[in-house]
Amino acid sequence: MKKHLSLFLFIFHSIASAASMKITPIDQHLWLLQGEGGNIVLAAGSNEALLVDSGLYEESANLRATLTELGVANCRWIINTHFHYDHTGGNAFPGATVIATPALRQRLSVPQILWRQQFPAQPESTWPQMSVDERLTLYLGKNEPVEIIAIPGGHTDSDALVFFPHAGVIAVGDIYFAGMYPIVHPEHGGDLLHMIERLKQALALLPANGKVVPGHGPLATRAELADWIAMIEFSLEHVRWARTAGLTLAQLQQSPLPKPLMPYQHGYRTPAQWWETVWKALPQ
Ligand SMILES: [Zn+2]
Repeated sequence: MKKHLSLFLFIFHSIASAASMKITPIDQHLWLLQGEGGNIVLAAGSNEALLVDSGLYEESANLRATLTELGVANCRWIINTHFHYDHTGGNAFPGATVIATPALRQRLSVPQILWRQQFPAQPESTWPQMSVDERLTLYLGKNEPVEIIAIPGGHTDSDALVFFPHAGVIAVGDIYFAGMYPIVHPEHGGDLLHMIERLKQALALLPANGKVVPGHGPLATRAELADWIAMIEFSLEHVRWARTAGLTLAQLQQSPLPKPLMPYQHGYRTPAQWWETVWKALPQ
């Protein structure tokens, strides 16, 4: 009997963990959903639901199961923060209309290279049906505006952010890796110097007690985002100083890590890779 019970619990646990993502409530009607891909935000309005990003294709079924678990029967809109496959893989969500920048639709429709890996053009079912050139406001209900703002040129040329003014919450995609070093994709139209301007634009929208959903990493406060911007600006200043002092990139990479950079070592990039990103972002 005991054996049967543990087998049952094992199967139950396997099904449960396969069916749901990590769910973090952000506000009364907003949730952060985390699987193996980029962060996803679910906004359940009084009339309909919206997703910011759709995660990995492989987790499409998990995403639907997670919405069901939260009592959300369907999803009217999906807004993509940028084209990378870990943010757009679940776009072919039944009944949902995808909204993104024009560059995102273009990027999904042709083959792409990411991390030296070739990706074929994505199926048409994942492409956005609506595009936002600059700014668009949707209403999830009578008084529930959602602002979509195109911010191309930071992480990639297809970037957008989503702002929930009533909740004081902003989802910024991969221009922010909370607690980690930034990742910029010049091969996809990204630029670190532009990214700082975009981050400041996001910061300016947020109230003092506002919350930030990064593309990867945990939910952050406005102060944490401000610290992150300061870390990037410190890094740029440090590289300028190193060049004036006659240091090469290799010498900078081998020198002790300055204190402001220490808390961000646990992400996808090493300090040496971060120095290289900063070095290449500044004019030679
Ligand atoms: Zn990305």
